[in-house]
This record gives sequence, C-alpha cells and structure tokens, in this order.
Amino acid sequence: MTKTILIVEDEKDILNLIEWHLRAEEYEVVKADDGIKGLELATKNLPDLIVLDLMLPGMDGLNVCKALKKNPKTENIPVVMLTAKGEEVDRIVGLELGADDYMVKPFSPRELTLRVRAILKRFDQKPDASEETRLKYRDLLIDTDSYRVWVREQEISLTVTEFKLLLELLQNKGRVRTRDQLLDRVWGYHFDGYARTVDTHVRRLRQKIGEEYADAIETVRGIGYRFKE
Ligand code: CA
Repeated sequence: MTKTILIVEDEKDILNLIEWHLRAEEYEVVKADDGIKGLELATKNLPDLIVLDLMLPGMDGLNVCKALKKNPKTENIPVVMLTAKGEEVDRIVGLELGADDYMVKPFSPRELTLRVRAILKRFDQKPDASEETRLKYRDLLIDTDSYRVWVREQEISLTVTEFKLLLELLQNKGRVRTRDQLLDRVWGYHFDGYARTVDTHVRRLRQKIGEEYADAIETVRGIGYRFKE
C-alpha cells in the first residue's frame, strides 16, 4: 500500500527536493508551506508520516507538533522534525514534543528518505500500540510493552519472571498450563526438579496481585495452573 508523507516546509527549494526524493521512492506526497495549513492537512488527510520544519510562518513546528500530539486522530503519526543549526534541537529530541526523529539542515535528502522508511517500518510492526499491548481481566490491567501491571488502577511491582508467568497464564485463560509448559515459556528451559520453582513463583505472584486475583489462578493438582475464564 502506498504511504502518504506530508511535508511542511516554507523553503521552496528544500520542499521540492524532499518531494522529488520521496516520490522517487514511490511515496505519495502532500505539501504545505506554513504551519497552519500543515496542521489542517495533517488532520484532514491523516498521512502516514510528517516531515515538519521547525521555523515556519503561521505556526511554528513546535506548536504544530504539540497540536498533532494532542489530537487522538493524529497523535500516532510519526514526525520527523527539520531544524537549522543552532535551533533548539534538545527540546525536540527530548521528546517533550513527541517528534520521532530530527534532521539538521543542510541534510542529505537520501538520508532523510532512509530514515522515513525506517520509521514507517517500525510503526508497521506495531500498529495501534495503545490497544494491542494492553490486556485486561476485570480490574487487572497488564501492559506488555512496558511490563507494568495495575490492580484497580494501583500499580503493583512484579519481577520479570512473575510478569511473564502472569502473562502466560492470562493469555491462555481457561486452559491448563503444565509446569513444564510454563518453564519452557517463562524461563525458556526446563529440566527435572524445576517444577517446584514454578510453584514458588506462582505463590509469590498470588501474594502480589491480591486475594481476588490470586483465586483466579487455579491449581490443577498434579498438572499445573489455569487462569479462570
Ligand atoms: Ca523554515
């Protein structure tokens, strides 16, 4: 599928140069030469990526970027910021603004094209991050991206092993996981005598997630564990 790139840049030569290089790579290009138009086009066309100049008439790149990140429709569109030497690169890279990358002028359009492609590829790998990485069971919330867990909005602290154990059980809700399966999936290996390790970790996990959810992890005697439907 053809990707659309929005370029917001008031210097005509640079705008045309970037456009030419992106079109040569078969991207669709939409253009704006000031910040306000750029923001309008971004909201209307929802491009796959935005190349955004910092110093712009109308509204500068920082404010355009802030506005993009505030709008749920545009907040996930990656932004590559263009800056001139000496501009406040630190603030931009500080991700305070949510820009994904930046390039300092004068830059090689070829380099820009490579970065655009790399960023698009990265974003394709995890579409719609916010939803996909979150698992919910009643008031138990797991974020698989950041390895964080909340019970009734209260964050609880789990070790990586406990986290993986919980995730493995929850992802297989309703099905029994044997101790060997859990060792394979959570620890990555298993050998005789290690089944007890699983029991110990399950016990600790139950304590941490609290009574209500501890009961959701059922012991299937002689076999393993099951997260209740
Ligand atoms: Ca400019």
